[in-house]
Amino acid sequence: MDKIIRATAAEGFVKMAVADARDTVERARVIHACSPTATAALGRTLCAASLLGDAMKEEKGSLTIRINGGGPIGSIVAVSDSQGNVRGYVENAQLQLPLRENGKLDVGRAVGRDGMLTVSRDLGLKEPYIGSTALVSGEIAEDLTAYLTESEQVPSACALGVLVDTDRSVKAAGGFIVQLMPGADEALIQKLEDNIFLMDQLTAILAEDGAETVFAQVLKGLEYHIVSEKPIEYRCYCSRERVEDAIRSIGPEELDAIITEGKDVSVSCQFCDKVYSFTPEELKALRQE
Ligand SMILES: [Zn+2]
Repeated sequence: MDKIIRATAAEGFVKMAVADARDTVERARVIHACSPTATAALGRTLCAASLLGDAMKEEKGSLTIRINGGGPIGSIVAVSDSQGNVRGYVENAQLQLPLRENGKLDVGRAVGRDGMLTVSRDLGLKEPYIGSTALVSGEIAEDLTAYLTESEQVPSACALGVLVDTDRSVKAAGGFIVQLMPGADEALIQKLEDNIFLMDQLTAILAEDGAETVFAQVLKGLEYHIVSEKPIEYRCYCSRERVEDAIRSIGPEELDAIITEGKDVSVSCQFCDKVYSFTPEELKALRQE
């Protein structure tokens, strides 16, 4: 089962969260029929949104990450509720690029780096809180690190990974964020940098040993405590009522034109595999409301 585990280390100067999200990313892959490259790009973004969303304190809050780097994959959108449950989509889910020389999926080229990573936090107030930062590499983890350090001004390190199997299914997916609280000393920063440099590949750890081993490797030599463990999943909040609201907002002339055609209208959720159908009579009723 997918989960987010949180820990503190070094007397509270270090906070770390690990997301183990294989099933979540596999669900996204199946919904959107993603190519391996798109699975990796969307999956990394979903893991990032889950980690940031789960850190929100507002119970009804939600968090959206949008990435558009001008590359052939187009925009990527991932939305998390404040419990780390996520949904998302990618514009060109079928895009496939040749592997990089090291055999890895070329997410950076697919995403591009000519654009922004934007995080909007909806705290239930009138306006969402929006922060953004220029993309660094399009590889997403580096871009997220830049966002957290520049825009939110919390020194952070993060890794995001999706391992796609030969049958295109997701073998492992997840991510971690380590953040330093004010007053952390240089030696501690150096220790974490060394640990992260020396650690095994994230998806290999998740596939073989599990999330607990990610903490053991990143926080090696530090005293740490697990503070919470919560389940996460791919979760969409669409409903027929929401689609009806969207139809009502189309505008009377356009809606009349659709009704005049006399055909059923199907509306697909952009985040999940649900399709909502409306007969001309149902559309008429919505028109009259
Ligand atoms: Zn949906």
